[in-house]
Amino acid sequence: MNQPQISTSLFKRLRFVLVDTSHPGNIGAVARAMKTMGFSQLVLVNPRFPDALVHEEAIAFASGAQDVLVAAKIVGSIDEALAGCNFAAALSARLREYSPPVITPRSLAAQLVASEGLNAALVFGSERYGLPNDIIEQCSVLINIPANPDYSSLNLAQAVQLLAYEARLASTGDVIPATPIGFQGESASLVQIDGMYAHLEEALAAIDFLDPANPKKLMPRLKRLFSRTQLETEEVNILRGIARQIMKKLK
Ligand code: SAH
Repeated sequence: MNQPQISTSLFKRLRFVLVDTSHPGNIGAVARAMKTMGFSQLVLVNPRFPDALVHEEAIAFASGAQDVLVAAKIVGSIDEALAGCNFAAALSARLREYSPPVITPRSLAAQLVASEGLNAALVFGSERYGLPNDIIEQCSVLINIPANPDYSSLNLAQAVQLLAYEARLASTGDVIPATPIGFQGESASLVQIDGMYAHLEEALAAIDFLDPANPKKLMPRLKRLFSRTQLETEEVNILRGIARQIMKKLK
């Protein structure tokens, strides 16, 4: 029997691990940051408040991402948090003397996308102390978000946002999705557009804006102008309506 298709999408194999987090609000904001970028696996190691996932601040900051909190797990050790992972990256604002190789979020994201067999964890430290050395040493790489050297420590949820964004961009490509933004009507056909030009030309001549004996480049210029926009049927009809009204008034 064929093996079922195992999804290798990074969205399914990237886990966000928060160690010793103090503020439930940050945990909620992390859930939101993850969900906006399409990620959902959240694990907390020993948060300061055992009820952090249902804490009112967490819920308030999660906004519409409460489902990420509901599905999140609380565990008592980093080993439990990393269970099932074959790759872990530690996030730290501070570079240390003894640490795994240091890379940026962007190159990490590219590597994660390229290595479909990796079930990866991104490990974030506490607001106050960051990550302890023993956890950093357990990770394969150290991720440093390049920042102002004099003030390089981001808010926890903002650091998560940045990583989730880079992971998303690396997965989906650096493009705006093709879904139409706002209203989009039916594109006008060439026949409709040609009819509109004829109609406009007639009206412009009727008001002496265009001299049929010496039309210069007026129509080619107008055609060039309109060809830069994706004219829709409705818009062509509006322009024809204007031409029609001009002719009517002149009668
Ligand atoms: N005061 C702590 C920083 C805590 S910020 C310290 O000195 O380490 C909370 C967490 O966000 C950090 O543990 C780290 O995981 C992540 N983070 C914040 N800024 C970062 C940066 N510039 N690069 C990488 N991770 C960062």
